[in-house]
Amino acid sequence: MAAPRLPIFDNHFHLDPRGRGLDAVREFARAGGTSLMLVHKPYREHERPNTTLEDFRRDFDTTIALHAKIRSEVPEVTAWVALAPHPAEFTELLKVGWSLDDAHALYMRALDLAATYVRDGKAVAMGEVGRPHWRPIEDAILAKANESMAHAFSLARDLGCAVQIHAETATPESFADLRAHVDAARLPVGKVVKHYSTPIVDTAVNHGIWPSVLIGKGAAEEAAKGGVRWMMETDYMDDALVFDNMTKRSMPIAESWRLVTAGAETEWRSRFKIIGSTGAVLGPKTVPKRTRDLLAKGLMTEEQAWTIHAENPKKVYGIEVDL
Ligand SMILES: [Zn+2]
Repeated sequence: MAAPRLPIFDNHFHLDPRGRGLDAVREFARAGGTSLMLVHKPYREHERPNTTLEDFRRDFDTTIALHAKIRSEVPEVTAWVALAPHPAEFTELLKVGWSLDDAHALYMRALDLAATYVRDGKAVAMGEVGRPHWRPIEDAILAKANESMAHAFSLARDLGCAVQIHAETATPESFADLRAHVDAARLPVGKVVKHYSTPIVDTAVNHGIWPSVLIGKGAAEEAAKGGVRWMMETDYMDDALVFDNMTKRSMPIAESWRLVTAGAETEWRSRFKIIGSTGAVLGPKTVPKRTRDLLAKGLMTEEQAWTIHAENPKKVYGIEVDL
């Protein structure tokens, strides 16, 4: 029997100009993937944090360029963009000695800049926005992060767009707290997605925030038991694996940038070579593969798959996911 033709949507997928790039998207397509949310990430985070608005603009434009490349070179996959300065960009500035106020001020301006990409139709959502995921966290840092999260929410409210939240592990308590922030900003909760979510699908527990479930082992099965009000993601990072000519060993690209002088591209290029991807995160094939597994095991019907992969993204982002 031929496998059913279904829309297959990965709700959180990164690409990196230094990673596998379009090959990763082609792999997703070959496995049965039809559409994805391309989520912005800082592209030079391993060298130095973005310190000017121009840095942010250049990174945002990189995401837009990657999106255009998918459209022209892998037309069998439909992609949309979620874009915002990553919450880590604020804390990375603190690590290199910026004051809380200065780091916060730049981060806020970067959020405003990101909003113009949504306004201009280049992105359909703001993401990732939110706050650091680690705990414990200094009160002063958390307070500033909550302030910028509130700003992101109000920008999204005014734009009428969705947000993808990066925050601490999704628990009943964290969902309740996020919901309070969403309500304070008067952002409709139906436009709010928790990225990297645990499989908490019950709206009484997730407070109406959409869980974008990271579908590692068992999570998709768990989420499927809870109904259909959720989406699937891999958080594919497109992190390259590089070979170090000096020590003759391979390592993730992030590690390699720490071994050269900050910003020294020439030094980096003469020493390292990209040889593949790390495989440290869920690969591009995971969403199509899990969906087929759930269907095969009878844990999900085709109709339910349509809801999760097409109707839910339409509700949240206003996008048409089809075959
Ligand atoms: Zn991500």
